[in-house]
Amino acid sequence: MRLGCHISMSSPDYLLKSVQDMISYDADVCMIYTGPPQNGRRVSIDKLKIKEANEYLNQYSRSCFDIVVHAPYLINLANTLNPTTFANSVELLRNEIKRTDAIGSPYLVLHPGSHVNAGCTAGIKSIISGLKEAFLQEQKCVVCIETMAGKGSECGKTFEELRSILEGVDYQHIGVCLDTCHVHDAGYDLHNFESVLNEFDRIIGLDYLKVVHLNDSKNTLGAHKDRHENIGHGEIGFDILCSIAHHPLLKDIPIILETPYINNFPPYKDEIQMLRSKHFINIK
Ligand code: FE
Ligand code: FE
Ligand code: ZN
Repeated sequence: MRLGCHISMSSPDYLLKSVQDMISYDADVCMIYTGPPQNGRRVSIDKLKIKEANEYLNQYSRSCFDIVVHAPYLINLANTLNPTTFANSVELLRNEIKRTDAIGSPYLVLHPGSHVNAGCTAGIKSIISGLKEAFLQEQKCVVCIETMAGKGSECGKTFEELRSILEGVDYQHIGVCLDTCHVHDAGYDLHNFESVLNEFDRIIGLDYLKVVHLNDSKNTLGAHKDRHENIGHGEIGFDILCSIAHHPLLKDIPIILETPYINNFPPYKDEIQMLRSKHFINIK
C-alpha cells in the first residue's frame, strides 16, 4: 500500500520541510499545494528546495515521484460565462503543470470546475478545451480530474461526466483522482466498494485511476455537501475506509488523507497508523 496525506508547504524550507513532515508521519506518499490553494500566487521554482527534498527522500528509498500536487481551487475551466476566468484558469493550470514537472511529481490533481449556470454539458465542453489549451507538448505529469460531491454546479459528480472529459482529450495526459468523501456525497455507496470499483472500471477504466483521496464524510450518502471528516468519525466509517486502503487493486496507487486537523493539529500520523494496523483508536 502507498499511504500518506496532504502536507502543507511554506517558507523558508518549502518542499524539504514537506517531505520531512511526510517521513515523520510514517507516510509513503504525500500531496502538496505549491502555494495557497485559494490563490495563484506562487514563489519561483528555484526557491522550492526540490533538490534538497529529493536528497532527503533518497535516504528512505523514496523520491519526488511519491509526491502528488494539487492544483489551486480558483482554477475553473468550466466557466463559460466569464471569459477572463477561463483564460486565467488555463494560464494557471499551464503554470502548475510546469511546476509539477519541475518537482518530478507524476500527478497533478485538478477539480473539474463549476459550470455556474450554463449546465453541465456546456461546462464539460469548456473543461475539455481548457485542458487541451493548457497541456504542453513536452508534459510529463498526468492531470488527474477529481470526482466531485456535486455541490452547487460542480461538474464531475458522476463517472459518466468524468469519462466525457477523458474522451474529449483523447485520453492523453489525463487520469482520475477518486475522493471517497466526494463519491459518497455524490451518491455512490462505498459499503458496496466492489461494485463502485466495478462501475468505475466499466465506465472509465481502472487504468485511469491514478490517485485516491481517503476521507470520511460528515454527511449522509448523496448529500452533495463535501465536508471531510476524520477516519472512522463520519458516515462512511472505519471498516469501509480501511478495506479501501488495503484493497489489492489499489496497492500501487497513492492514497492520500485530507482529513481535518484536530485542535489545530494534523491527525495524520495516528490515522496512518490506524489504517496500517486495521485497528481504530478514537483520537477526537
Ligand atoms: Fe481536491
Ligand atoms: Fe479530495
Ligand atoms: Zn473535498
